[in-house]
Amino acid sequence: MSNAPKAGIVVVGSLNADLTIYTDRLPQPGETVHGNGFAVNPGGKSANQAVAASKLGGQVSLIGAVGNDPNGNMLLDSTASAGVDVSRVRHSDTATGVAVISVDAGGENSIIISAGANGTLRPSDVEAAAFADAAVVCLCLEVGIDTVIAAAQAGHDAGATVLLNLSPYAEVPGELAGLSDVLLVNAHEASLFLGAEADIPDPSAEPEAWEPVREQFAHRGLQRVLVTLGSQGSVVLDSLAQAGDRITRISPTRVSAVDTTGAGDAFTGAVAARLAAGDSLADAAAFASVAAALAATKKGTQAAYASLEDVEAARA
Ligand code: ADP
Repeated sequence: MSNAPKAGIVVVGSLNADLTIYTDRLPQPGETVHGNGFAVNPGGKSANQAVAASKLGGQVSLIGAVGNDPNGNMLLDSTASAGVDVSRVRHSDTATGVAVISVDAGGENSIIISAGANGTLRPSDVEAAAFADAAVVCLCLEVGIDTVIAAAQAGHDAGATVLLNLSPYAEVPGELAGLSDVLLVNAHEASLFLGAEADIPDPSAEPEAWEPVREQFAHRGLQRVLVTLGSQGSVVLDSLAQAGDRITRISPTRVSAVDTTGAGDAFTGAVAARLAAGDSLADAAAFASVAAALAATKKGTQAAYASLEDVEAARA
């Protein structure tokens, strides 16, 4: 056995075909409107996060399920061509998951997800052998919670850092919170998670304003939390750090944003890649901030994600 530090990233979760229709305005219930363009693209939070991490130099393996259909083949092609190991993406008799997305002229969207094959992913798909080289396990909530818990447990048992992206928002069982080393949420998810007591500071607030939020997360067993704030950047709440270093405000990377769809997944994948490479949480978040901002400068998700060279050039 080699003594080299583990560097692998295991992403467990969803692959979806994004069926996107562009329209001037979103329809009201019962109304039909004309669209002015349609696209089918690879998506799904986990597939996006896996591609983002792989493009940034991560050794990524994806555990998931797709149908025996053209959408499934498209997703396997796009993830594999980004360098992701897809040998543990299982074929299911159920159709590949889809996200039906409507985007209006102002960039506002509405999305309906049909889990399809993602809904067939079970704890039994989470085999311990897949985690042997894992430094980081990256999870979201687009597959069943039992499967997410099984993956978090497998990552924990393998000594990996378990990164949980609390999206789409759902209640987190205490067992899952206890297995999660790093929680990644946007401001909306943070306030849903903390409930009535939450008072999420304005993005322009001083870092100290986050102190009560850090304490509330720590009280719920989440010692290390990244809160993303869209174009306002992000904040790192690290209750395991020395006093004085527990809150780090990551300034936004200023770009001319064209399409922020999937920016959160680009951020998550980049954090996974940098934690696996040995960065501190704050360094990983600073790097991810640049990677996610670059992703927002191009249309689409996976195809828009930055390479390591792109991020290094932007930071130089
Ligand atoms: P989500 O899409 O999950 O709600 P956010 O909107 O908070 O996530 O975006 C995730 C991260 O992507 C942000 O923390 C930021 O680093 C980056 N980002 C998003 N939108 C922009 C933007 N318009 N300009 C620069 N960076 C952005």
